[in-house]
Amino acid sequence: MVASDTKECTMAFRNQKLDLGRMLETLVNNLDGVVLRCRMDEHWTVLFISCGCQRLTGYAAEDLVGNTRISYEKLTHPEDRECVRQKILAAAQTDGYYRLEYRIRRADGEIRWVHERGRVVVAEDGENVLEAFVEDISDQVDARNSLALAEMRYRSIFENSSDGIFQTTAEGCYLDANPALAAIYGYASPAELVAGLKDIGSQLYVDPAQRGRFKRVMAERGTVQDFESEIRRRDGEVIWITENAHSVFGPDATFLYYEGTVRDITERKRYQQQLEFHANHDQLTGLPNRNLLNDRLLQAIHYAHRNSYFSVVAFIDLDNFKFINDSMGHRAGDVLLIEIAKRLQSCLRETDTVARYGGDEFVLILNDYYQVSQIVGVLERVLEEIGRPVTVLGQELYVTCSIGISQYPTDGEDPQSLLQHADAAMYLAKERGKNNFQFYTNRLNALATQRVKLESSLRRALDNREIQVYFQPKVDQAGTCVGVEALARWHSKEFGWVAPSQFIGIAEDSALIEPLTEYILRQACRKIAGLVEKGGEIGVAVNLSARAFHQKDLGRMIARVLAETRLPAHLLELEITESAMVGDIEKCIATLHELKAIGLRIAIDDFGTGYSSLSYLQRFPIDTLKIDRSFVSNMRLDPKDSPIAQAIVSLGQSLQLTVVAEGVETAEQFSALKSLGCEAFQGFLFAKPMPVEQFEDYFLAQQV
Ligand code: C2E
Ligand code: MG
Ligand code: MG
Repeated sequence: MVASDTKECTMAFRNQKLDLGRMLETLVNNLDGVVLRCRMDEHWTVLFISCGCQRLTGYAAEDLVGNTRISYEKLTHPEDRECVRQKILAAAQTDGYYRLEYRIRRADGEIRWVHERGRVVVAEDGENVLEAFVEDISDQVDARNSLALAEMRYRSIFENSSDGIFQTTAEGCYLDANPALAAIYGYASPAELVAGLKDIGSQLYVDPAQRGRFKRVMAERGTVQDFESEIRRRDGEVIWITENAHSVFGPDATFLYYEGTVRDITERKRYQQQLEFHANHDQLTGLPNRNLLNDRLLQAIHYAHRNSYFSVVAFIDLDNFKFINDSMGHRAGDVLLIEIAKRLQSCLRETDTVARYGGDEFVLILNDYYQVSQIVGVLERVLEEIGRPVTVLGQELYVTCSIGISQYPTDGEDPQSLLQHADAAMYLAKERGKNNFQFYTNRLNALATQRVKLESSLRRALDNREIQVYFQPKVDQAGTCVGVEALARWHSKEFGWVAPSQFIGIAEDSALIEPLTEYILRQACRKIAGLVEKGGEIGVAVNLSARAFHQKDLGRMIARVLAETRLPAHLLELEITESAMVGDIEKCIATLHELKAIGLRIAIDDFGTGYSSLSYLQRFPIDTLKIDRSFVSNMRLDPKDSPIAQAIVSLGQSLQLTVVAEGVETAEQFSALKSLGCEAFQGFLFAKPMPVEQFEDYFLAQQV
């Protein structure tokens, strides 16, 4: 209060005719605290102290006035005396006003905190005195101290937490951040972070829409829990974090800021991604596995459905992969599969999928192809890519593949049936000579079902003696029988006659081919050995399928059968198709030599339909070329009109091989082939395949 105000107040009191002196005295003495007047000497000699003295200090006012019992200096806590004095003296140099907090020691020894508000004034005698009001604030100080302690504790948690802690505005600025958060985000200090990160949405999150999601969840639930995001650190590195946060509101319920914690979960995320990758990818090739394939198929179907066009599934099976695996070992097989996977990927676009379905099976999903011709183009490329020689462990290998195709929605509306149907079409591709692709048709479905039934029936056929050997004669230019080809015939109790083209493939796939081959070989050899004994020197040709050719101990098995049936080895010829000569060509050549060493003959069957390279043909230790039926049936009357047959015959002659024409049905074909120089003939023109008993009659009749 300035002097003039005081005057006015006094006036007002006077006007009300109050006893100001008495009122002030009551007021002063009833105050919680003391009014104090001191001399500015070394004792702070008390000139006046109000009645509150007893309560505040434990001393009666008389004990202090004039330092009767104790001086105010002594009353002041020794540690605070100097500071108190300095402040008051400093105030005296200015306007005299001061405020102080210090401790006093009460008469009972207890230490109390007091607050002193006063002014240095000039007394009536011209000396400086201080006039002050002193009150006990120990309770406040205690409260303040415990608050500070709590604050300190929380600060310590904030500063030392390994989780990042933040307060941010709704607009995406930082109000506060702890050192851990700065470290997670790549800043040297919280201050740098607060200064540098001005827009969380665009600066922090890799996906800018993430901030919107954060705020939406916050608006809906008031908290955000385990909110996982990819963020960009200050140095550009992308890491994963998880956030837990809530909104903080003021007493009047207005929004103040977001507050929360951040944890770096990059490690866990990577591990999780790794696990997911393993769960969804093939370990060997890194391609999607069946799990992921199924998801991708669903996606493709969904996509095609929405855009009302089709999606294509191609089922790929490597031809004769098993031989490579068996003969060269799994490591070679693995290397080959990895290479095949790469080649498949190279044929497709980014949006397409190549998955490994099983051992040597792959599935392609082709999206975005509008025309069949484009699909055909891709598949032709796949055939070509797979067909290129592969160098595995220093050896050049040849593999091919068979592909079956199904389309959404015509061939199936769910992954399961699309795959099933593509698989069925793949089997048709196998039956049609491998190294080609076939589209699924409804008829194929029936075939596939029948195939399963046939397979289980075939398993019992050998034991049930349902399989028989038929002989088809081979004749020379004069039409005399010079040999036979043994052909398997299956008369099933369930299905009636089943053609070899149907069951040989099934036997190949189900490993039944080995016992079947041995059975046919034994029957054929036994029969011919019988005829030889009766004086008829005649050769027998037995077919060896690809798998049988690659089977282990083939040579030993054949030698055993020859010994058992006592058939001279030179009367046995093995017919092997070109397509069996796949995989490791060197190994094929070695097997051929091993067979030759037994003393038997080797023929290449269905010659001209395969794709064996002529340079290899020269290295095969073979005796006979059998011109495929298709070239014979294409022959016109004029032999010059059949360039392929002509070429095969002259090729055979130049390699000094016996050339046999298959499927001769007409006299014209016979004479045309004769004029080309063909030496042996087989076909309905001479005789159809017949039961062995019937053949004996046929043969013996010829002898006479
Ligand atoms: P392949 O070895 O080329 O046998 C010749 C096929 O042509 C036989 O068919 C035979 O009946 C048929 N054929 C012979 N002459 C004529 C003719 O003038 N016109 C017509 N249209 N066809 C004629 P098949 O017996 O149905 O055998 C088909 C294929 O099945 C054989 O072709 C052979 O690759 C395979 N096969 C048959 N028996 C066996 C066997 O015991 N083991 C193995 N691995 N394969 C066999
Ligand atoms: Mg044959
Ligand atoms: Mg043939």
